[in-house]
Amino acid sequence: MAEVLVYVDHVDGAVRKPTLELLTLARRVGEPVAVALGGGAGDTAATLAEHGAAKVLTHEAAEYADYLVVPKVDALQAAVAAVSPAAVLVPSSAEGKEIAARLALRLGSGVITDAVDLEAGDEGPVATQSVFAAAFTTKSRVSKGTPVITVKPNSAAVEAAPAAGAVEALSVTFSAAATGTKVTSRTPRESTGRPELTEAAIVVSGGRGVNGAENFAIIEALADSLGAAVGASRAAVDAGWYPHTNQVGQTGKSVSPQLYIASGISGAIQHRAGMQTSKTIVAINKDAEAPIFELVDYGVVGDLFDVVPQLTEEVKTR
Ligand code: FAD
Repeated sequence: MAEVLVYVDHVDGAVRKPTLELLTLARRVGEPVAVALGGGAGDTAATLAEHGAAKVLTHEAAEYADYLVVPKVDALQAAVAAVSPAAVLVPSSAEGKEIAARLALRLGSGVITDAVDLEAGDEGPVATQSVFAAAFTTKSRVSKGTPVITVKPNSAAVEAAPAAGAVEALSVTFSAAATGTKVTSRTPRESTGRPELTEAAIVVSGGRGVNGAENFAIIEALADSLGAAVGASRAAVDAGWYPHTNQVGQTGKSVSPQLYIASGISGAIQHRAGMQTSKTIVAINKDAEAPIFELVDYGVVGDLFDVVPQLTEEVKTR
């Protein structure tokens, strides 16, 4: 069976969930071979093996933390040369997409970004994307070279699939460009204790209907009862009620959770663009004609100040 390279996103050896989702998709297309780089790379092996990695290629070097993405591109290029995979899968983060684009350029192959599904095809892996502000779904495949595909978080379930996970050291020679731009400091964002917006399985978002920064406390309370991340429409962000980092939409973040709850959001096309691929969409809006109701699975016509606290209390009792 053809091998499929999976780029491992991890923090000091702790594998992040989008990588485990990639392993689920990789198994549909071939035999997953994971590539883990940097400090703690070796510690990822057990988790990766539990989720289907037949092999884990590791390379621990300070360059991965000290410089921007080029050392990672060098390593993936070395892995492609070593394995000749049927595809390379990378999580669709900002960094992942830069790595994928640079790698595809190096390999002279095509790149598909922000896939939401992946299946085997007669002529190579077929990726599903949601395009034109999520108005259309397309299926495409790379017709030249080794396909490099980035996949959005929450596009597949994490599945246990025990495999060998044999650890092998990857041999990497860094290019001259690898050390071109050095990272001089990192300032971790203050943690809210909530999951990362783009990776969260549940997102609760508030819009203009929330009507003030202080009222976002009720959105946060619902989010916390569900273990969810908090999102916001641009109207809420522009009003200064919630940070820009939490904006969902065309000019904000793109999310694809299992459950998206929109409160006081009308459902403008630019907002939909960032959340329309969510698996289940719930909206709470006092206007029964609001466009958001065209795309929801469940809609509640009502005042969010009545509905959201009741929902929070109900969730807490379960
Ligand atoms: P509104 O459209 O004003 O809707 C508020 C809703 O709340 C209404 O439907 C109302 O019925 C409801 N409501 C009010 N009070 C209550 C209540 N008490 N209980 C229940 N419901 C209530 N927008 C984004 O979100 N993300 C983007 O990334 C983005 N990018 C953009 C890029 C461009 C180039 C442009 C031009 C626009 C962009 N926008 C984006 C803005 C977008 O067009 C909308 O203006 C915005 O999404 C509206 O936000 P909203 O739904 O919160 O507000």
